[in-house]
Amino acid sequence: MRSTEELQAQLEAAHRRLGELTEEVARNDDKMQRTQQRELALLQAEDLDSLLTVLVDGLRVSYGLEYVSVVLCDPDHDIRHLLLANNTPAESFADLLIVESLTGLAPQYIALHQPWLGGFAACDHQLICPNAQGLKSIAMIPLKHRGKAIGSINLCSGDAHRFTSDHASDFLAHLGVIASFCVENTVNRARLLRSGFTDVLTGWNNRRYLSLRLGEELARARRDQTAIVCLMLDVDHFKRVNDTWGHAAGDAVLRELAQRIESQVRASDVAARYGGEEFVVLLPNTEVGSASLLAERVRASISKTPFELPCGESVTVTVSIGISEVRPDSDETDLKTLGDSLVARADVALYAAKSAGRDRVIVEAA
Ligand code: GH3
Ligand code: MG
Ligand code: MG
Repeated sequence: MRSTEELQAQLEAAHRRLGELTEEVARNDDKMQRTQQRELALLQAEDLDSLLTVLVDGLRVSYGLEYVSVVLCDPDHDIRHLLLANNTPAESFADLLIVESLTGLAPQYIALHQPWLGGFAACDHQLICPNAQGLKSIAMIPLKHRGKAIGSINLCSGDAHRFTSDHASDFLAHLGVIASFCVENTVNRARLLRSGFTDVLTGWNNRRYLSLRLGEELARARRDQTAIVCLMLDVDHFKRVNDTWGHAAGDAVLRELAQRIESQVRASDVAARYGGEEFVVLLPNTEVGSASLLAERVRASISKTPFELPCGESVTVTVSIGISEVRPDSDETDLKTLGDSLVARADVALYAAKSAGRDRVIVEAA
């Protein structure tokens, strides 16, 4: 028969074990909850730039790490252009690397199917963590598209024991799967959005895009207390071009016209095809005086050189341009109405240019 002391000791040991297990469960529960929160933040990111922010800054804060970088392979410059079109260029993310190829960036990229955890070596990891300093360990989590690595999330710590090959990496692998899915999803969404903002004939932005950007530019002008000028341009007697040469010739004229306008405006200006043969150019941070000069240059660049038609003939085309300006008050709240009235006033000035004989620029009456 066992002594009471023996039973007592066994009971205490069992209690201790239970305590340890309860603690472990609590730790795992906590870990699981934090993992779920991180993954939820990724899934909730609605666009590419907020997703990249969650990946780089969000994960660094959430894991309490010294440094996190994200590498994305973008051989067709697709992601870079989508970010640019969204006004959040790749360069605006400090620790995002968009590369044309993963070759030679880090030795682990040769076969990165699962997260790789181990010591941080400047010679191996400097290229994927360009701004890193004083790091001791790294977890490289592969980002994949259709089973192929397209980059990695690199979690880096100043603690050599934070990521070692002995650590389980299933939580990180799961994070990688979610992140890969989110990257693909937001890139697709950005593409779709962009296609919905693009005019098929000219490749220019369309009216939907213009109205979106007009809101943004007005908000900026209100903040910086600057002016925005709107040019509304309409082709003169365009119906005659169609009637004489056919619609395909008319289309060719519209395409060339868009190119001629584009060659005169700055990259920061917002140019859009507003409707059939009407174009709008928004000139942020511009005064009416310099906008008139620009409009005059646009007008001349169109009337001066005849347009070559697909049939080999050429036709001279002229345009009329109306100009309006707005300077939002610092306490203006209704930017939508302000934007609508800016475009409507440019349209009135355009109508005046038509009435006055076409092929001219008219600034709205003060
Ligand atoms: P106005 O000087 O008063 O502006 O005369 P207009 O003939 O240019 O004006 P109107 O509004 O009567 O005609 C515009 C024409 O533009 C009619 C329409 O068929 C044509 N149009 C609109 N979109 C396109 C297009 O995408 N391709 C072609 N080929 N023609 C188009
Ligand atoms: Mg018209
Ligand atoms: Mg017209």
